[in-house]
Amino acid sequence: MDVAALDVIVPILYIISFGLFIYGLMGLTGPKTAVRGNWIAAVGMTIAVVATLLQVRHNWLLIIVGLVVGAALGIPSARQVKMTAMPQMVALFNGVGGGAVALIAWSEFRTSDGFATEAGYVVVASMFAAIVGSISFWGSLIAFGKLQEILPGRPIGLGAAQQFVNGLLLLAAIACAVVAGLGGAPEIWIVALLVLAAVLGVLVVLPIGGADMPVVISLLNAMTGLSAAAAGLALDNTAMIVAGMIVGASGSILTNLMAKAMNRSIPAIVAGGFGGTTTLPGADDGVDRTVTSTSAADAAVQMAYASQVIVVPGYGMAVAQAQHAVKDMAKLLESKGVEVKYAIHPVAGRMPGHMNVLLAEADVSYDALKEMDEINDEFARTDVTLVIGANDVTNPAARTDPSSPIHGMPILNVDESRSVIVLKRSMSSGFAGIDNPLFYAENTSMLFGDAKKSVTEVTEELKAL
Ligand code: NDP
Repeated sequence: MDVAALDVIVPILYIISFGLFIYGLMGLTGPKTAVRGNWIAAVGMTIAVVATLLQVRHNWLLIIVGLVVGAALGIPSARQVKMTAMPQMVALFNGVGGGAVALIAWSEFRTSDGFATEAGYVVVASMFAAIVGSISFWGSLIAFGKLQEILPGRPIGLGAAQQFVNGLLLLAAIACAVVAGLGGAPEIWIVALLVLAAVLGVLVVLPIGGADMPVVISLLNAMTGLSAAAAGLALDNTAMIVAGMIVGASGSILTNLMAKAMNRSIPAIVAGGFGGTTTLPGADDGVDRTVTSTSAADAAVQMAYASQVIVVPGYGMAVAQAQHAVKDMAKLLESKGVEVKYAIHPVAGRMPGHMNVLLAEADVSYDALKEMDEINDEFARTDVTLVIGANDVTNPAARTDPSSPIHGMPILNVDESRSVIVLKRSMSSGFAGIDNPLFYAENTSMLFGDAKKSVTEVTEELKAL
């Protein structure tokens, strides 16, 4: 196709793809339209890739090898990943985006004789892309390692020196960017910049504790988007600018919403140290740790005679894949005149909207799903709260214990209900690695076992009543 025709066709294809990105993103606002929204955005991305490839004049073999390797690695891993491992998958894929952006900046440096022939704005955008892309790549790898439990979830840091060292690394990376950006500098300067940013990415994420990981992944995602937009500016590629800005903007909004949900400020999260410390049962702190256990039969009786039951799902429900069993149990309770509601904490599970997706899969009505702010006052008026594999999001220490690592994080006020039944397998801690006083409260009884098995047993007992 000749260049004049491409000058007309490519922008039109890009505009169509932007429209599809935005339309697809709108679909992601609710589980019912999310799958369609994802497909629409994927079609948009395919159009953008085709439009970009139409302009390619050389290196076809390399591009095809890249596409084949990417597809061979990406498709099977996306198909095989378990729902519970989705956050680390997102961290990894996001990181690869940041790494690609950093490499683009490096390649721009090489093809322009060390920026000797580039306009000032291209140099600035490339340097921004190199620093932020490298931080995102290495930071995301550490986040992946923590979520996959290859690395310890607890904060690992340099203590008081941490912020000083991080600041120094950032300044050194910027200094390298200035030297490399002046034009004609040896390649070692951009390599040094990438290495310094890499060390910074590692050192920023290592001290962040388990409980803050969801916010960090979202933050790294936003940074990757911004660095991609900067690389788009350097390459004069509108598709990269728009797609990068969409990722950057939506990632920033999500980061802000999640930080607000956890009552945390983003600088405090980046400063590190929240969650991941271990205060397991048995710690010698004078707290009475007597646990009351219950049986499926007793739990069934309690719930059958309640006027309202609130179900609090958490990560354990996802692990046990108990959502369909929960829906069956709720249906039976409703047939006995019990009102059943679901309390959804914004960071329950291991990814934003995790519980909504699982419950939607089991066809639980949207009207029954209540967000934290909507339902928190109702616990005090509720006969039975059934906690299914949730832990950190119900921990009253966040409200009452200023020394708790999660102090200040808003939680579901489960402990206020008349009676609480907790379904989990053991007394193990949740993601934040801390003990939960709810489990020892007088109004709490524990139904130990796999959540799906326990819910199924409760349903059988309900049928027999
Ligand atoms: P938690 O991780 O606090 O607790 C989950 C509980 O589920 C565990 O205590 C575990 O106890 C229990 N469990 C595990 N498997 C089963 C099973 N098969 N049957 C029954 N119980 C089971 O989960 P929450 O949802 O309460 O809190 C989410 C945590 O994850 C927060 O700390 C949040 O910050 C963090 N996080 C959230 C992300 C998000 O975006 N939503 C992303 C990453 C982290 P036991 O082993 O005894 O069974």
